[in-house]
Amino acid sequence: MPGLDAAALRADFPILGQQVNGRPLIYLDSAATSQKPRQVLDAERDFLTHANSAVHRGAHTLAAEATDLFEDARATVAGFVGAAPEQLVWTSGATMGLNLVAYAIGNATLGRGGASSARFALQPGDEILTTAIEHHANLIPWQELAARTGAVLKHIPARDDGTLDLDAAASLIGPRTRIVAFTHVSNVLGIVNPVAELVALAREVGAVTVLDACQSAPHLPLDLPALGVDLAVFSGHKMLGPYGVGGLYGRAEVLEALPPFLTGGSMITTVTLDGAEYLPPPQRFEAGTQPVGPAIGLAAAVRYLDGVGLGAIHAHESALATRLGDGLRRIPGIRLLGDAAGVERVGLWSFDVDGVHAHDAGQFLDARGIAVRVGHHCAAPLHRQYGITASVRASAALYNTADEIDELLDAVSGIRAYFGAAS
Ligand code: PMP
Repeated sequence: MPGLDAAALRADFPILGQQVNGRPLIYLDSAATSQKPRQVLDAERDFLTHANSAVHRGAHTLAAEATDLFEDARATVAGFVGAAPEQLVWTSGATMGLNLVAYAIGNATLGRGGASSARFALQPGDEILTTAIEHHANLIPWQELAARTGAVLKHIPARDDGTLDLDAAASLIGPRTRIVAFTHVSNVLGIVNPVAELVALAREVGAVTVLDACQSAPHLPLDLPALGVDLAVFSGHKMLGPYGVGGLYGRAEVLEALPPFLTGGSMITTVTLDGAEYLPPPQRFEAGTQPVGPAIGLAAAVRYLDGVGLGAIHAHESALATRLGDGLRRIPGIRLLGDAAGVERVGLWSFDVDGVHAHDAGQFLDARGIAVRVGHHCAAPLHRQYGITASVRASAALYNTADEIDELLDAVSGIRAYFGAAS
């Protein structure tokens, strides 16, 4: 597999050339949002400069051009996750995608969508299963759906080493399980979860699987049909793309049978004053004006990722994760969250600094030009399991170098002494 020259790639990312607090910026917050290469910035600007127009309507030349670019972008982004264009619904991001699914299932429960949607209808006492490590975006929509339908929400527990307890999963998944929603990679732990095993368990009982692929899509080769999940979501801004765009992937027969969530323009065939007929997927789920420029930017982003190669990106980032994990383990007073041995990882670690609040640690690092995330990273229940309210998270992307990891390690080794916490 060809290696990846992160130092050379950095030339494509204008933002990385700057100084922060008098030091060269070391950006290790890509799990929150990634930086964008000029290819993405150019694609969006070119569209707005030369082809901006409303898609799927209007007979004029620019409208046709914009529609072609928009639908080409759909095909490109769908292809990036191994899917056909009609299997990709544009959303504003993963949070929107997960809410879309939860509300659509809620609508099926209300009888909307007719006989074909009945398989999604929830009865009181039916079970929705998530895990103890989810981002709030893959937890709260299911809490709300359970509250609206009388379904019961259960959680697959995580061991303290950050791995999901598959034995517990096998005993939790049963005849009442209707939905199994879980993350491919936790944004706190960085461990790649066993998707195939969980999908197999869910399939045995006919449950719908929903995958949160936010933290895997930019970091490892992703073939959603091969993984066998029914539905999956990702966010463009975490994968070198613009804000305000993301994808919902669905197996064809699942999308066909789901009723819409948002309704309005662009998703209908006929409308009378009393009712409406809906378009097939993906347009059925795309009410209103879509994020056309961002979608075109996201297509440029996945072309960029593909150009570098997801295999090479994954190898590079896992090597950075190993370097970072090994280095952090050697620093007294640092506790890594999810330090399981022998698991596949993306390039991120969250850690606790004994005696120092995560926010203080973050400011200490910021003063040295190092950008990390501090807080509960929208995974408060998981932090509660570790007995803390906040952690420091360093997350790498294809543009980070081993030298930057070493700079971070050097800085982290000074945190406890600076705050008087070193014994
Ligand atoms: N799931 C995971 C695992 C995430 O890391 C994030 C973003 N932190 C989300 C969901 C939500 O993504 P967005 O805010 O882009 O909708």
